[in-house]
Amino acid sequence: MKYIEAVFTLNQEFNYKADIISYFSKLGNPVINSTKVNLYKLFSLSNENKEKGMIFMQDVEIFVKEKTALLIDFSKLTKVYLLFIYNESDEMKIFEAYKKVFEKFCSNKNIEFEFKLLKTKVSFFNPVNEISMNEEVMSFVSLLDTDTYLLLKKIKEVGTSLFKSDLIKLINANEEELNSLLSKKFLSNEYVFICKETGRQIIQASNLDILNQNIGVKCFHCGKNIKEERMEEVLTLTQNTNYILSNNIVFAEYVYKKLKENLFSELYLDVVEVCKNLIYNELSKPIVISFLDDDFKIHDVFFLDIYYSSYKPYAIILVSTNKALKVLEDYFQNKGIKAFLINEIYNLDVSIRDKIDSLAKEYVLNELDKYSSYFNFRLSEIFDESKIKTDLATVQE
Ligand SMILES: [Zn+2]
Repeated sequence: MKYIEAVFTLNQEFNYKADIISYFSKLGNPVINSTKVNLYKLFSLSNENKEKGMIFMQDVEIFVKEKTALLIDFSKLTKVYLLFIYNESDEMKIFEAYKKVFEKFCSNKNIEFEFKLLKTKVSFFNPVNEISMNEEVMSFVSLLDTDTYLLLKKIKEVGTSLFKSDLIKLINANEEELNSLLSKKFLSNEYVFICKETGRQIIQASNLDILNQNIGVKCFHCGKNIKEERMEEVLTLTQNTNYILSNNIVFAEYVYKKLKENLFSELYLDVVEVCKNLIYNELSKPIVISFLDDDFKIHDVFFLDIYYSSYKPYAIILVSTNKALKVLEDYFQNKGIKAFLINEIYNLDVSIRDKIDSLAKEYVLNELDKYSSYFNFRLSEIFDESKIKTDLATVQE
């Protein structure tokens, strides 16, 4: 969804609200209240600077024509703000029509005006403005690969704070795997000493220094040296690991932060019921990257369908550690959307960036002729087409 903000600055107070509304009504239909609420919500969530931005709260009229909406703010006496919301570029002609009506009206009333476009921007429902993820979590996510992630998930399922020996049996893991999780600090450990005679716990220690003490610590149940008692290593998921496993928004935020660093300016984070999404919007059609929830069920695909229909993406990149979701590629491709599933989360930001790059190049190539019709010169003369083709060939290899 795109929008344009514009303002007419007048040389006098505008006292013809009722008249102009009747003119505009001939172009579009007045809107019901619920739409007004949704539209307001859309903009009240935008991360624009509120001081400079328009706040559509008071004297607002809304008109719809086809799938576009025009909001007019009459709350300032000598300014008339317009906000035009549309989906397709060719719907801009509807905005031009509204603008012409207003200009003609002003001319007839001898009102001088200055028209200014404030911004042309894209906004979305439920955009996330603040990323809660900190640098420490970022560094842990960068170490993760799919196998590690799934192993940690398994550990979480059987319960945290278990004896290593039990854990190995319960999840059929090997000790090296668990030690690797320990060394990467996805797990933390402690040691527990248990009296062989009574089966009761003697002491819990964060390390094994207790075994190297000269005095020799003795079991207070039976009196034997602690070295002769049963020792168990207890493994616990760290706080960071628990945070990472709690919600896959972590991956969406991680990739968002990484791609923003790479100057992806038109990138938005959008959170909906069944997935977290990044919207890459530097092309005239967006590329949506959906991070599917771990418990994503095939029937949830209908929610995705509805979601994508509002964006009409050129392509979608699905991210899930569940390989079975490969079927979604076919599902969406049959609907005419390019779809790719990424299963491996190691280097996720790089995989996604590469995919966006190749899709973007392909898009520019395919769409070039279509856009040439808008100009009196050929777009391909501006783009070094042969270079793009070379790049594309390299990407496809
Ligand atoms: Zn003992």
